[in-house]
Amino acid sequence: MAQFDRLPESERDYWLADWQLSQVECPDCHRPVAECSDPARRFYPFRRVCYATMERFAADAAYSALHTEEAGAAYHDGTFTSWAAKRSASHPYSAMAGVTIGVADRDLAPWDRFTKDRDASPVAPDDSLGDRKEADDAGDGG
Ligand SMILES: [Zn+2]
Repeated sequence: MAQFDRLPESERDYWLADWQLSQVECPDCHRPVAECSDPARRFYPFRRVCYATMERFAADAAYSALHTEEAGAAYHDGTFTSWAAKRSASHPYSAMAGVTIGVADRDLAPWDRFTKDRDASPVAPDDSLGDRKEADDAGDGG
């Protein structure tokens, strides 16, 4: 900034403001504006791939494709095994209601083939006692 000291005041203010502006971070790419606004500088595109997110998107799309009105399976009765095209008193839940699709480094629910089987139940086969079993597990340990 010492290079501006000998300039007339009005010119100095202009160049100082220009220099300060060039030090500002670009709101788009977070580089100094002097870098990213330089037309002589080249930038090369790249892609970063998150394979976990890629699998989650694929599972989400497959599940959504199984549960459309056209497929007669947009709404279920709470069991995920009985579906209807239209919402009704007996089938009030949309396919995505309460559902979060995620990925893990191992198959956490091998019985739940929700991306391939329209009527796949989220309940584990040996978990048929449902809430009673959970209540027993949470009991006094005896
Ligand atoms: Zn920028």
